[in-house]
Amino acid sequence: MPDCIFCKIISGEVPSAKVYEDDKVLAFLDINPVNPGHTLVIPKTHFNNFSSTTDGDLESLVVASKKIAAAILRATGHDAFNLTVNNGVEAGQVVPHTHFHIIPRFNGDGHRLWAGKAYAAGEMEEMGGRIKKYVEEN
Ligand code: AMP
Ligand code: ZN
Repeated sequence: MPDCIFCKIISGEVPSAKVYEDDKVLAFLDINPVNPGHTLVIPKTHFNNFSSTTDGDLESLVVASKKIAAAILRATGHDAFNLTVNNGVEAGQVVPHTHFHIIPRFNGDGHRLWAGKAYAAGEMEEMGGRIKKYVEEN
C-alpha cells in the first residue's frame, strides 16, 4: 500500500470527521474547507486519480456523493454545492488518492470559479472533432 494520507484515514491510523461509510466508499470533512461542511468522498481502494479509478468504484462514488450532498445541504441550510474533482497536479490535485469534493455554496461566500476564454475562429470545431474521434476510438 502506498504511503497515502487518505489510506491512513480509511485504516483509522489518521483521525477524520467521518460522515458516511459503506463497503466501497468513505466520506469525511475536508480539514481546510472552502466553506463549513466541505466533504471529501473517496473509494476505500487506493487509486491515484479519477482517471485510473474503476468504473464500479466511480459509480459507488457518484451515488454516495448524491446522498451526502443532500445531507450537507440540509445540515448547512444552503441550496447549492459544487461537486469537483482535481485530476492531476496541474489541475490542483495535491492528495494522490481519488476524491470528490462536495463544497456547499451560498451567496457571497467568496469562492470563485474559472474565467472562460474565447476560442479563435475554427478552433472550437477542430478541437471538438479531435476529442470526438478519440472518444469513439475507446
Ligand atoms: P486536492 O487538492 O483535490 O488533492 O484536495 C485535497 C484536499 O484534502 C484538500 O482540500 C485538503 O484540505 C484535504 N486534506 C488533506 N489532508 C487531510 C486530512 N488529513 N483530513 C481531511 N482533509 C484533508
Ligand atoms: Zn490511498
